[in-house]
Formats: sequence, C-alpha cells, structure tokens
Amino acid sequence: MMRPLLGSFAPALLMLLSACSSGRTHGAAQTSAADASSDASGAAERRIDARVDALVTQMTLDEKLTMMAGSKADRGLWLTPGVERLGVPGYAMSDGARGLGATQSVPDSPQKATAFPTGSARGATFDESLEERIGEAIGQEARAWGADVILAPVVNVLRHPRWGRSQETYGEDPVHLGRMGAAFVRGAQHHVIANAKHYAVNDIEDTRFSVNVTVDERTLREVFLAPFAATVEAGVGSVMSAYNQVNGSYCSESTHLLHDILKGEWGFRGFVESDWILAVRSTAPSVNAGLDLEMPVASYFALDKLHAALRSGEISEASVDEAVKRLVRGHLELEARIDPTPPPIDVVGSAEHGALALDAEREAITLLTNHGGALPIDRSKIGTLAVVGTYAGMARLGDNGSSKVVPGHAVTPLDGLRDRGAGVTIQVVDADVLSPLDQATVAAAGAAIVVVGLSPTDEGEFYNGGGDRKTLALSTTHQALIQSVSALNPRTIVVVESGSAVTMDAWQGGVAAILMAWYPGQEGGDAIADVVFGDVNPSGHLPVTVPVNEAQLPPFDSTSTEVNYGYFHGYRYVDHAGETPAFPFGFGLSYTTFEYGNLVLSDAALDPTGALTVSVDVKNTGARAGDAVPQLYVGYTGSSVDRPVRELKGFSRVHLAPGETKTVSLRLAARDLAYYDVSAGAWTLEHIPYTAYVGASSRDLPLHADFHVP
Ligand code: BGC
Repeated sequence: MMRPLLGSFAPALLMLLSACSSGRTHGAAQTSAADASSDASGAAERRIDARVDALVTQMTLDEKLTMMAGSKADRGLWLTPGVERLGVPGYAMSDGARGLGATQSVPDSPQKATAFPTGSARGATFDESLEERIGEAIGQEARAWGADVILAPVVNVLRHPRWGRSQETYGEDPVHLGRMGAAFVRGAQHHVIANAKHYAVNDIEDTRFSVNVTVDERTLREVFLAPFAATVEAGVGSVMSAYNQVNGSYCSESTHLLHDILKGEWGFRGFVESDWILAVRSTAPSVNAGLDLEMPVASYFALDKLHAALRSGEISEASVDEAVKRLVRGHLELEARIDPTPPPIDVVGSAEHGALALDAEREAITLLTNHGGALPIDRSKIGTLAVVGTYAGMARLGDNGSSKVVPGHAVTPLDGLRDRGAGVTIQVVDADVLSPLDQATVAAAGAAIVVVGLSPTDEGEFYNGGGDRKTLALSTTHQALIQSVSALNPRTIVVVESGSAVTMDAWQGGVAAILMAWYPGQEGGDAIADVVFGDVNPSGHLPVTVPVNEAQLPPFDSTSTEVNYGYFHGYRYVDHAGETPAFPFGFGLSYTTFEYGNLVLSDAALDPTGALTVSVDVKNTGARAGDAVPQLYVGYTGSSVDRPVRELKGFSRVHLAPGETKTVSLRLAARDLAYYDVSAGAWTLEHIPYTAYVGASSRDLPLHADFHVP
C-alpha cells in the first residue's frame, strides 16, 4: 500500500495550492526542490507557509486536534491521522537507525530490509559522503515501503560506552556526531522526512523513563545539543523528544528545549513528536512547550483532554494551530523536494544496498593493534586458519530494540572467511571453552581468529534483554577464550563485535592483532574477511575512547534516577585528567603508513565572523593504497572557562596510492570556537591565542600552528 503524498491530493487542495503559489509552475509535486532547500528563508518557504495557512484555516477544531496524536500501526508503520476532506495525509513512520525497521512486522514479506552496520560502526568511518549515501538508501527503502518519516538519525552523545544504546549513535564527539547525523539527514531527506532523536540528553537506558539529568547550560548546549543543532542546520524535518527529564522537566514538556532553543533560537521549521509510550506526561504543559505530536497513540493528546485544556484556557487555539501547521508544512516541504514517483518496492533489501552495507563495514573496521605484521593474512602462505568462538558463526547485527532490522541474509565472520578464503584450510572451533582437541587445532594452525563481543542481552534498548552494560569488559568466558587461544597460537587475531568500547587490558598484550568490527551489518562477515586477507586496507577510526579501565571515564550509574552531567566525557575527560587511554578517540591503524606535513593556515588571524582554511599534506609512505583520516583539533590558551585540552573541529577521509601525497583542506569557522557564556546567555568568542593541531588521532597530532581572533 502506498500512501498518497500531496502529489495525489484531492483536486480541491491542488487548486488551493495553485492559488497560493506565486506564478510558478503550479502544484506541490512540481515545486522545485532547490527552492525549498537552498532558499531557506526565502520565497519558497513563504509560499509553503501560505499554503499551510490556507489549509489549516479550512480545518475544524476536531480535525486539527486529531492530527496531534498517532492513531494505529500498519505493516510496521506508525500512522498519524490526516484530514482526508482536504487531502492532507497523515504520516507513516518507521524506525531506521540501521535500516528500515518496518519490514520485520510483516514476516512473510518477500522484501527484507537492508541491515547496515550500526551507528557507531558508521561513526568509525568518519565518512560523511558514505553516511549520506546510507541515509539515502534507508530513506529510499522507507519510501518504497510506504513511510514518509524515518525515525533516524540518533544523535545522542555517546557519553559513556556502558549506555545500552551506544550502538545507535555515531560516537562521543559532538562535532563528529553532528556532522555524521547531518549527512544522514541530507541523504534520507531525498525520499522521506528524517527524525533527529532523542532530544535531549538521553544517555542512560535503564532509567530512561524516569531519570532526571541535571546539566549546566554551557554543557547542555556545547556537548549535548550541538549535534541536534547540526541536524537542524541540515534541514531535518522532525525531532523526537526524549523520555527522560532534563533539569527537572520531561523533554516533551520542556519549554526551554523545545520552544526556546529548538524552535526559537535554531529556527527549526519541522515538527516535534514524542518518543513512544511514556514520553508524554501532560497535556497543556506539553502543548505549550512545543510538542506537536504525541506518539504512537493519543493519550495526553486525546481529543477530550485537548478540548478540556482549551476550555480551561490552559492552551490556546493558536498553539494548536502552530502544531498543526508544522505537521502540514512537513508534508508540503517533503513533497517539494522528493521525486513524486516512489521508488519501486524492490529497492528494499536490494543488492545495491547490500553492496553499500559492505562498503560501510569495510570502512568501519578499526585495526587497533597489529604486531609483527600479523595482519593481513596471506592466503597462499597461511595453510590452516583456526576460526574460534561461537560468535564466529553468528551474525551480530545489533540489539533487539526498536532499531532492529531483519535482513534477508546475514554473513557471519565464518561465512566471510570461507567466502574469501580460497586456498586456506579453515578449521572451525565452535566453542568458547576449548576442549583438548580444540587446543590442538588452535596450536597447529598458521593463525587463529577469535571472534568475541557482546550480544543483544549485554547491551541495547531495554526490550528483549538489552539495557545498559553492567561492565566495560567482555564476559569472563570471552576473556578467558582469548587468553587461552593466544597462549596456544602466537598469531592470534581478535575480532571484537560490540556497539561501543570494551576494555581490553586483560588480554590486549598477549594477542597479535585486534580488529574492532562493531556491529557490522548484514555483509559484515565478508568485510571482516576482506580486511583479514588484505583485500581491503582497514581505515576505521575510533569514534569513542577505549579506556584502560572504567575508572578513566566519568561515573555511570544506570540505576540512578538523578544524575548530574559534567562538561567532560570521552577523550575530553581523559585528556583533562591527564590519563592515557588504551586507544584514543580518532585512533585506527592501517596496513600502510601515513605522514602528515606542511600545515598551513590561510591566515594567522581569524576574523570573528569568518573562517580559516587549515591545509595539510598527507602522504602514503607505505607500499599499499589506503585511506587516511586527517583530524583537526583546537586548543585554547588562557580561556576564561575550563576548555578541553584539545577538541575536534574537523576531519576528512582521503584515499592515497602508495607514495602519493594529497593536500587536504579543513575549514575552521570562528563560530566553532565560541563557548556558551551562561551569565550572558550567549555564545562568546574569546580573543585569545588558539592552536590548530592536525594528525591521525586525538593523541597523535604531529602538526600544530597558532592563530588568534583579533
Ligand atoms: C525508542 C525510539 C523509537 C520508538 C519507536 C522508542 O522506544 O526510544 O528510538 O523510534 O521507540 O520504535
């Protein structure tokens, strides 16, 4: 069933739209996408607003109120009511953080969605254009299935790797996270409305329905809201208010978050819908704060409750109109930018999207150690390869929460090693505790690949197991497995599949190589094998700090209903404390080596309203082609506030043939250096010395240059 978009609206509406349009080709479907997106505050927006006004004026009060809450689900899509009489459709929403979630509700559907690597894996790619293509693919599958809203991206800060939903987001750094989220939005919105979630400060799973997070205004804005601001800047059409409380207000009734910041300061034009059951706790406070749509069904936004609030004067019809206008505008803006013909249904789970999932994982796999050239494995020389651990034969796609995707097929690491391992004798040890025979097999092999990690019951959204992690360590069984294999075979390669950092201190020193594979998506096993056999040169970089132990990170209490978040977390916290992590943010090895040189700033003085170009030469000094991920950090001298030692401000990804050098330019805008001055209630740019650092990770920054803001 394809739901109609405005292109197939009732003739009455089309006449109305034409009457409101100012002399351009008539009809919403033909409105140029360029007008709506590039002329952000211009004529196209005004035309759409005029159409919205004209439609909402014709609605009865009941029609408007009915639009403000979800109604039912069908084929895995959550539906919201429209106003049929006027040809205004409701919305059909699907989850989508790692692919189209809706298809799993129709188990006998011939179409199965593509399961992409989860968010943290895609964060490790540091590849915005790839993420844009993934957003586009997920958006396309969603539209083909009949959705017009995809409930992604997740841009919550990965504040602590024990957070159960870490896998859904792109990482710990607000700039990197915002840029990856914005890339997803740009891609997805070629087909549907994207949805930035969960706004805001949703970083604990177990107490998500009740926890009150206190956070000072500077931390709130610079750390937790910044990624959302980036998606708003990218034009995200909807935002989901989170379950938790921030500074004493549930997010769905937070005037500060919704009305003042999101819709006020940031000028967000889309609509805000609540997270699912239990995210809305009130009628009038939520409407007045700026919640436009209660999901998935009417409870506090049921007709009788909204009527009562209107009668008592607790809410005004103007606030109702405001919400409904946003909901109608979402459709008009979508219609203005998408192809009126939906993609064919067979894009869902297409081979092309599978190939994209494979590319993503190839870029995501992060090589953490590689002693004595343990990797890659030369197929012609290795003889026998022992593939060890029960996880080798499982496809770890991520948790069983709302972002779950059931694909048509999923390649396990063992499948991948067999697919790619022509000429290699693969000995399977399908156990996590080695028998004497297993031990002999491992000892006799040319190398051993041990696959370990986490399961949906270790971490995830709380459904079906899940929840926050109890520990940052792997299970004692997996740790012991690694230790026993590495004691038997000096060429032991550990493949870790998890949504976020795991501590490795107990076994890291004894193994030859570590590959962080994250939750690698449906083609993951092939990507892992490509890296193992050297057909792909690893290029992933950590989007999250791997600490030596949990004490290196800020405290995480998943049972608490009252928490306070300080300014520092992740690498900022570790750097500030002067600690040395096991593997720093931004780190990732390659089978080749890169050299950074010739750092040049376009100017030593950065105009307070302008930007600098930071350029650097990156040279591939090894014998294999590979991708480098140059990263730009900034440090502050004499700031009046406690700043990070260095913080990420830009990154890129560049492919280099052996011996090749490329100049990479990174943009640094003055506004990116401002801090939020709480007493002034404003962003403040300090006239202090700044230092730009460039290199291969947050702890490997061989180049630096000073500049100032006059
Ligand atoms: C999750 C959201 C999800 C929604 C619908 C909620 O429990 O927090 O991320 O989009 O369910 O499945």
